[in-house]
Amino acid sequence: MRADVQRVLAETTPAKLPDQFGSRHAFSIDVEEWFQVGAFEHTLKRDDWPVLESRVEHQTYGMLALLEEAGIKATFFCLGWVAERKPLLLHAIYEAGHEVGCHGQDHQRLFTMDRSQFVHDVFGSKKRIEDAIGASVFGYRAPSFSLTPDVWWVYDCLAEAGFTYSSSVYPVRHDHYGLPAAPRVPFWPTQDRSVLEVPMTVCKTFGRALPASGGGYFRLLPYGLARWLMGTAARQTGVPTIFYMHPWESDPGQPFVAEAPWLSRFRHYTGQRALAGKLRRLYRDFDWGRLDETVVWPVLRAEGRLP
Ligand SMILES: [Zn+2]
Repeated sequence: MRADVQRVLAETTPAKLPDQFGSRHAFSIDVEEWFQVGAFEHTLKRDDWPVLESRVEHQTYGMLALLEEAGIKATFFCLGWVAERKPLLLHAIYEAGHEVGCHGQDHQRLFTMDRSQFVHDVFGSKKRIEDAIGASVFGYRAPSFSLTPDVWWVYDCLAEAGFTYSSSVYPVRHDHYGLPAAPRVPFWPTQDRSVLEVPMTVCKTFGRALPASGGGYFRLLPYGLARWLMGTAARQTGVPTIFYMHPWESDPGQPFVAEAPWLSRFRHYTGQRALAGKLRRLYRDFDWGRLDETVVWPVLRAEGRLP
């Protein structure tokens, strides 16, 4: 194991978990534009973003309608970039009773920033989101799960910015992200226990750690297998599943980026047409709720930090 991984894991402590969580799992949506994804970073330039077709409003309202139909409240981690341009969208999410969290300013991966750049990014985006919704924001999700051991100081900055929790670590092996040695249950990443980390869901099976948190895998895998992975992981850990997706994943009408590498196109476009139907099944088969209510508050209560 690399020395920096060992160093940060030595700093972590498991959080005290409640005897039993409620029956709900956590549903989260990372609100960003279709062109802000890692898959297109070498094809679509950041300078071009302002002139590309914005579809985030239409897509997110679609997600909101599906959630409302199922009577589900979820957590929306929003980019400051979106908050600045579509404040009414964020307001509508908040007013519908969903939790609003922060996904950074413009999807810059954390390990590409130094500490002062990150402070600028996270304080700025949090403020833009809070201005849009007229309320405080407590949850953070790193763009592309890029909270790696090299930038573990990010947790200190999140604490300074007033965040209570982060949901930014994915304990799997993947070509773009992943910290396989991280705990699979909520933990304190630093010794001062200022910010709780709620890692993404991983299922241990066939001697391997498999991602079980939705995302692109939910589109690519048969529904029954995705459901089995999520249910099994939750039984193994005793912690609710953390599901995540993006508004652009269910929009077959979005522009097609033919110049992107084939793997990026495959990951981005496959299964978009079928996603709404799969989500309806998912909403029927599990109870879903906001990340703060289903996981964070129960842990903080068990820790004696909340009444
Ligand atoms: Zn994202």
